[in-house]
Amino acid sequence: MSKQIRKANVLSTKQITPHLQRIVLGSDEFKDLSTSYIGNYVKVLIPKDHKIDLDIKTACIRSYTIRDIDPENGAITLDFVINMHQGPATQWAQLVKVGDGVAIAGPGPKKLDNYDHGHYVLLGDLTSVNAIKAYLQLLPKTANIDAFIHVPTAQDIISLNTTRNVNWLVTSTPDKSMLNALSNLEISEQPPIVFMALEAGLVRKVKTQLDERFSIPRCNIVSSGYWKKGLNSERYKQLRQRDAELARIS
Ligand SMILES: Cc1cc2nc3c(=O)[nH]c(=O)nc-3n(C[C@H](O)[C@H](O)[C@H](O)COP(=O)(O)OP(=O)(O)OC[C@H]3O[C@@H](n4cnc5c(N)ncnc54)[C@H](O)[C@@H]3O)c2cc1C
Repeated sequence: MSKQIRKANVLSTKQITPHLQRIVLGSDEFKDLSTSYIGNYVKVLIPKDHKIDLDIKTACIRSYTIRDIDPENGAITLDFVINMHQGPATQWAQLVKVGDGVAIAGPGPKKLDNYDHGHYVLLGDLTSVNAIKAYLQLLPKTANIDAFIHVPTAQDIISLNTTRNVNWLVTSTPDKSMLNALSNLEISEQPPIVFMALEAGLVRKVKTQLDERFSIPRCNIVSSGYWKKGLNSERYKQLRQRDAELARIS
């Protein structure tokens, strides 16, 4: 991920569904951002009391996926989950006004890097819907794709600019719905490549199911806990660092 910090301004902000706020950020410093970055993520340095902390060591930082990029000026469109929880990023997204300042770092890379396979399984929620949107454009036209995205209401289903079939699971019990939906997967001899970006606890449950029921090798699974129930982003990061350290020394 590029360490470059870019200052930006809010060009537009609009609540597009009950749980998504679409915010477009623009800047003279975005000119090198081409549409190839659609689906990559940026780290947003969330302002506090309208003040932007540009120091990556002390700023409040949250990751968001680029839904779109304006090829003319590099303006980036981000969709923020709102009305699901309390946290600095979701609160900022609900209150921010056109013209307000913000900063970003990145973009960071896409998580999936194999675009030459026969079968993909894509699993997401509202935080990863735009990562899946990007993959639906990039995966081979001939590939078989099983995409499942859970959303809290039918109004939260958004356009993914694709003719591919996407299974939207409208549910108040996402873990159960996702695991149920997956139990009907049809797997041929060549195991699929799986991309999943979900709540961390659900990622673990899905991995277990993919292993126990379908014997999909771990090396075919690209997974990321995009958030973790009960932990804010900083505490979740500390937990991951601690687990990585424990794994290293054990
Ligand atoms: C690579 C990457 C890309 C991402 N892209 C997006 C994106 O495009 N849009 C997006 O909205 N999020 C995205 N996320 C997830 C987002 O960064 C986290 O949800 C982040 O924690 C939100 O920050 P916050 O300040 O609102 O809440 P925090 O202060 O981090 O957390 C406060 C509380 O809210 C809970 N919480 C956090 N997120 C959620 C949620 N989505 N639903 C329910 N409870 C939650 C936490 O468990 C905690 O209890 C992405 C994450 C990664 C790693």
